[in-house]
Amino acid sequence: MSLYLKNATFIDWETLEFRKTHLRVDAGKGNAPVFLKAWPAPEQFLAADQMLDCSGKLVTKSFGCGHHHIYSTLARGMPAPAQTPTNFSEVLQYVWWRLDKALDLEMIEASALAAALFCVKNGVSFVIDHHASPHAVEETLSVINRAFEKVGLSSLLCYEISDRDGEEIREKGLAETERFLQSGGQGHVGLHASFTVGRELLKQAVNLARKYHTGIHVHTAEDPVDQEHCLKNYDQRVVERFAEAGVLDLPKSILSHCIHLSEAEKQLVRDSRVWVAQNTESNQNNNVGLADYGVLGQRVMLGTDGMHSDMLRSAQAAFFAGRAVEHTDWGGLYRRFRNIHRYIRENGFSGDGENNLVILDYDSPTEINADNFLGHFIYGWNARHIESVIANGELIVENRKPSRVDENEILTFAREMGNKLWRKLKA
Ligand SMILES: [Zn+2]
Repeated sequence: MSLYLKNATFIDWETLEFRKTHLRVDAGKGNAPVFLKAWPAPEQFLAADQMLDCSGKLVTKSFGCGHHHIYSTLARGMPAPAQTPTNFSEVLQYVWWRLDKALDLEMIEASALAAALFCVKNGVSFVIDHHASPHAVEETLSVINRAFEKVGLSSLLCYEISDRDGEEIREKGLAETERFLQSGGQGHVGLHASFTVGRELLKQAVNLARKYHTGIHVHTAEDPVDQEHCLKNYDQRVVERFAEAGVLDLPKSILSHCIHLSEAEKQLVRDSRVWVAQNTESNQNNNVGLADYGVLGQRVMLGTDGMHSDMLRSAQAAFFAGRAVEHTDWGGLYRRFRNIHRYIRENGFSGDGENNLVILDYDSPTEINADNFLGHFIYGWNARHIESVIANGELIVENRKPSRVDENEILTFAREMGNKLWRKLKA
């Protein structure tokens, strides 16, 4: 089965070349679209083929999210904590750890389905997720994976293992990670952060990552408290600790945030092959500071940290906040927005082939072309323009509606699970 796009304006995501063309997109992982010189004659189409008229539309590679937390999907509008957090540690204790402990498998499924729905409607076809649910660990990665696949989203998953809830839950995190990776699941060994991960666990996690040829996905120096804890307990800084443990030797590793790094730590990141995920709006929300990511080298990608599933919004937030701290420029920011594809490609993960495309109905008041594309990307494009999304050659969003799933059914289920979660939080 093939999907034919007629009269598209195709934008190459790497070269930014514009071309007016017809396209044939074949289903399957990793198939590149075929540019057609002429529109095929009627007899050349198979009965199952689909056709979309893309006259006046822009077609380019769909987007990816480098750091997400589907577990926070049902947090929107939830009851306020009994005590108002005044610092980052209290935000974790009073808000996120209270929430993630209340999650059960049914709520996780609803969270994953709703997050996947928002992702694809925003043009995002690949997500790197970092999940926590200490009282529902077993099977959790498979539940998320199935929910994502149902909607048509590709992913890299992990469970954020830590010592914060004791030995039994830590062991469950390790076991769930190994079970998922052993079963062929695509993912990382997830760790929460240095300040919740003891010596033994860090060692076990790196060994597990080596065993399954993957990397560590961990929050890194998001707040000064991570560094203070590390200096006090290990007499070294967070990135130094991770480097010594071997995390930085694994090119699939992702260090999320990296806000409070010393010059020596920045050098360690630059000299390694690990990737960094930047999550500007979350950092603003938690008031943990903003960083100059330009000094960390070329391997920086963007995430949402679970705040939302809209990568155009994340890119614009990173651009505007970055103006003050690192003099961000359009091209540099666009590169960062697209770096997730390079991360996936370089590390041999699947699900982000060139037949992952987004079709935009961009109602611009001015002309858009290869020369001024970046100005439109920063100031003009937003999720409202996403009309259709193609993942692995299959149309998963058509005219703003998900094709594989019933949107209302997912939202009804999510609201039901949200109410269940909130009742638990109030009890
Ligand atoms: Zn995070």
